[in-house]
Amino acid sequence: MVKVPDTATPFFEYAPAPESRSIVDIKPSYGLFVDGEFVDGHGRSFKTISPSTEEVLAEVAEADEADVDLAVKAARRAYTRVWSRMPGSERAKYLFRIARIIQERGRELAVLESIDNGKPIKESRDVDVPTVAAHFFYYAGWADKLDHAGLGADPRPHGVAGQVIPWNFPLLMLAWKVAPALAAGNTVVLKPAETTPLTALLFAEICQQADLPPGVVNIVTGAGATGQAIVAHPDVDKVAFTGSTEVGKAIARTVAGTRKKVTLELGGKAANIVFDDAPVDQAVEGIVNGIFFNQGHVCCAGSRLLVQENVADEVLERLKRRMSTLRMGDPLDKNTDIGAINSGEQLKRIRELSEVGDAEGAERWEVACDLPTKGFWFPPTIFTGVSQAHRIAREEIFGPVLSVLTFRTPHEAVEKANNTPYGLSAGVWSDKGSRILWMANHLRAGVVWANTFNKFDPTSPFGGYKESGYGREGGLPGLAAYLKGADA
Ligand code: NAD
Repeated sequence: MVKVPDTATPFFEYAPAPESRSIVDIKPSYGLFVDGEFVDGHGRSFKTISPSTEEVLAEVAEADEADVDLAVKAARRAYTRVWSRMPGSERAKYLFRIARIIQERGRELAVLESIDNGKPIKESRDVDVPTVAAHFFYYAGWADKLDHAGLGADPRPHGVAGQVIPWNFPLLMLAWKVAPALAAGNTVVLKPAETTPLTALLFAEICQQADLPPGVVNIVTGAGATGQAIVAHPDVDKVAFTGSTEVGKAIARTVAGTRKKVTLELGGKAANIVFDDAPVDQAVEGIVNGIFFNQGHVCCAGSRLLVQENVADEVLERLKRRMSTLRMGDPLDKNTDIGAINSGEQLKRIRELSEVGDAEGAERWEVACDLPTKGFWFPPTIFTGVSQAHRIAREEIFGPVLSVLTFRTPHEAVEKANNTPYGLSAGVWSDKGSRILWMANHLRAGVVWANTFNKFDPTSPFGGYKESGYGREGGLPGLAAYLKGADA
C-alpha cells in the first residue's frame, strides 16, 4: 500500500458525529404490500443485513409467482375502478401529499437508507431523499396537465406498470419509477433489490399515511425470480427496469413479441475527461465526486478518467492528495465520505476485477487506511497505466475504483471515450465553452456534464445509448414513457 503523501496528514482528527438511529423503527419481519395492506407471502423469507456491520436487520418476505399475481390483480383493480378514472388534479393531490410526507419523514428515510444500503448519511440526507421528494413534487405538477404537455391530444396511461429496481439508490430509483407512473394514471407493482428492501417498505407505509387508494402502489420483495415473475406476468402492460445490462437483456428477451412497453436503464462506464485548461482543483473535486460518490455504486459513475497527457502528473498528484483526506467508515457518521460496499457479493466482484487490473499490468494505488473488521469495505483506488484493451477500462466495476487513461487531442479523447459498449454519461472539464459544446456533440452518452458531475434533477431526462439501455427517465420524456403513443 502506498504511503499517504505528507501534505495530506490531517491537522486534527474528527470526533465521531453519528446520526442517531433511534428515529427508525425496524420491525423484525416484513410482509408484502399488496392492495393497501401488508400481507404474508406464500414463499420463503430472506434476511436483509447492514453492509457496514453485517448485523441482520429484518426478515423480509420473498414473493413467489402467486404473490406477484395477487399484486398485479390488485393493481389492475385499482387501475380500472379508481386511478384511471380519477381526474389528474385529484391524482396530483396524492402525489403532493406523498412528497410532503417524504420531506417530513426525511431524516427517518435517510437513516434507514444508510443502515440498509451502507451509503454515508450525508449523501442519503442531502442527495437521495431531497431528490426523491423533488421527483414527487415535479411529477405531481404534471398530473393535471397531461393534455397540454405536447404528448398527443388525449394521452392515456398504459395500465399496470411492473417496476424492478437495483440497490444503489433504493429510494431514488423507486421515485424515478413510481412518481411518473402514478402521475400519468398507471398503477404499479414494484420490486426493490433483495439487499435493500427496507426504504421501499417504509414508502409503502407512507402510501398508507397519504391515504393512497389500495392497489395503486404494490411493493413485492424478493430476488431475481420475483422480478422475473413481474416482468413475465401477462397482465403487466409496461415494464420499467433499472439494473445490470445482463439482466436487462434477459428482460428484453422475455418481453419480445408481447405488447408490453419497456424502458431499460442499465450499466455504464463513463469517461470523465479533463483538458489541460481545466481548473485543476475543481476538476479533482469532480473526479472524486464522479467515482467515489456512493462508493462508486453509480451507473453513471465517472469510472474512466481521461486526462490530457501534459497535465496528467499534476492531476494525479493532486487527486491522490485529495483522496487521502476522504473519511471512510460508519455510514451514519455525518463526517463519513465513503461508506460500506453494499454486499459481500459486490465486494467480491470489485476485488476480482481489481485483481484482473493487477494481472493485466496496470498500476494500483489505494488510500492507506484501516478498514473496519466487520462489514464490506473497499478503499478508494486508482489504476494508472491502463490501456483501452484492459478489462478494467471496459467493464463496469461498480465500486470505488478509477481507471486512468491519457489523451493528447480532443479527437483522441472522443475516440477513447466512445470506445465502450455503454453510453450512459460523460463529463468534460475545460475552460473553453466551444470545446465543451464540441465534445458534447461528439460523445455518445445520454448525459454529458460540463465542469460538474453526478448532478440529478427531476426536470432533466436521464438514460443511455447502446448497452446502457433505452428510454428516458426524468423530465417530460420520463412522463411520456408511461403514456400510450407518447414514448420518449
Ligand atoms: P441486477 O440487474 O443484478 O439487479 C437489479 C434488479 O433486478 C434487482 O431488483 C434484482 O433482484 C432484479 N433481477 C435480477 N434478475 C432478474 C431477472 N432475471 N428478471 C427480473 N429482475 C431481475 O443489478 P444490480 O446488481 O442490483 O445493480 C447494479 C446495476 O444496475 C449496475 O450495472 C448499474 O449500472 C445498474 N444501474 C443502472 C442505472 C441507470 O439508471 N442506468 C441506475 C442504477 C443502477
